[in-house]
Amino acid sequence: MTKEIGWNLENSYIQLPDKFFSIIDQNPVDSPKLVVLNESVATSLGLNVDFLRNEDAVKVFAGNELPEGGSSLAQAYAGHQFGYFNMLGDGRALMVGEQITPDGKRYDIQLKGSGRTPYSRGGDGRAALGPMLREYIMSEAMHALGIPTTRSLAVVTTGESIMRETALPGAIMTRVASSHLRVGTFEFASKWGTLDELKELANYSLNRHYPEVESDGNQYLSLLKKVIEQQAYLISKWQLVGFIHGVMNTDNMTISGETIDYGPCAFMDKYDPLTVFSSIDREGRYAYGNQPRIAGWNLARFAETLLPLLHDEQEKAVELAQEVLYGFSDLYHANYFRGMRSKLGLYNEEKEDQSLIEELLSLMATYKADYTNTFRSLTLGKKECSDLYEAEKFKTWHNKWEERKARQPKSQEDTLQLMRNSNPGVIPRNHRVEEALQAAENGDYSVMERLVQVLSSPYSHSPEHEEYTQLPPETEGPYRTFCGT
Ligand code: AMP
Ligand code: MG
Ligand code: MG
Repeated sequence: MTKEIGWNLENSYIQLPDKFFSIIDQNPVDSPKLVVLNESVATSLGLNVDFLRNEDAVKVFAGNELPEGGSSLAQAYAGHQFGYFNMLGDGRALMVGEQITPDGKRYDIQLKGSGRTPYSRGGDGRAALGPMLREYIMSEAMHALGIPTTRSLAVVTTGESIMRETALPGAIMTRVASSHLRVGTFEFASKWGTLDELKELANYSLNRHYPEVESDGNQYLSLLKKVIEQQAYLISKWQLVGFIHGVMNTDNMTISGETIDYGPCAFMDKYDPLTVFSSIDREGRYAYGNQPRIAGWNLARFAETLLPLLHDEQEKAVELAQEVLYGFSDLYHANYFRGMRSKLGLYNEEKEDQSLIEELLSLMATYKADYTNTFRSLTLGKKECSDLYEAEKFKTWHNKWEERKARQPKSQEDTLQLMRNSNPGVIPRNHRVEEALQAAENGDYSVMERLVQVLSSPYSHSPEHEEYTQLPPETEGPYRTFCGT
């Protein structure tokens, strides 16, 4: 059976010291049913799509059976949640193993919602169907937007209800990630491990994600640099598409630089740096405009864990770490402004570009313009009937932008092409996601399938996708997201 499906699993993680994980029992569910299968992820993992819908394969997605070569473990980690340090760990996830793909890549295969573990604390270890499908939709959208992310291979319903505010259908999602190593894993090692154990974790991380780092220099400083670079790139990508993660705790920041944990995330509609969707983020710690600063804060927590590995003398170690940490902001801004210039069709760089960009954003904020659609209109050369387009100041800005574009040695066609490739036409708009989830909860998956299909080509600007670019009808209150369900 396993041979036909194509599982090719290894378990390098269990070579880490015992305290980094717990071997756990499986928690079988009543009557698992496959409701979504990501055929393109399956194929790239080397899995055979023809067999993945069979009962035997579905048992694996449900955690009822282990595939050959698989393991059953929960990872230990800690984390700063809204600024406060806690011991955490996989409270509702089971690591099945690492799939080695036909082209030799290694991906964690993890079941989310698989039942209680030693790290569950008060939780039931389970997940509801809505949030698992939501993660599926959002992570697929991010992938198609070209943003590093974990992905979803499958979602099964369990046939069991879980209790939240009301009874909800239970589900398990199979998550695929370059690894699940987090800043929080290092915080765990730093707080509860020996120096050797911390070193083993750092070596493992280097080996898995940054094998190009030479072991003769200060390789742990290189690890810090690499993670900072990856995160500066990732966060700039989030900002450029208006993605709000919603719960940027240190346990939700990966060492690989992939986006992880799609609990309360959502895309910003009206441009406003203060935008927050998560119901639990009452002080706006994780607001859109705060994300780069918070990433810097999380990376400082990461750097702290590495200090004993950076230099024998603490003072020197701090100096080394600080110098690298200070670089984060410059790296982030360079990525962000490069991306913004592309969004405006600018190939080269002029001194005044930053103010040109900031002026536009400030006008968008004043006139409550939709972030995605403003850039889309600029790309398609569409005159919108909106407060922004009526404003004199915007017309002045528009002329300035036209002049700026004309000054670069590029054809109009090239400029347009750059904009089309940099400004998505469709994003997972909140009302569309909700509509898809509601239909799915009523047993109709076609709305979600169509949405995922449209989201898979965000830069095609196809007229057929026009309806997905529309804003929701004015609602009564702001959109709210929830996590932990
Ligand atoms: P998150 O905010 O999604 O990053 O989750 C924070 C921590 O809570 C992680 O350690 C999760 O494993 C744990 N957790 C979330 N939901 C549950 C649940 N239903 N049962 C047990 N643990 C959970
Ligand atoms: Mg998490
Ligand atoms: Mg979560």
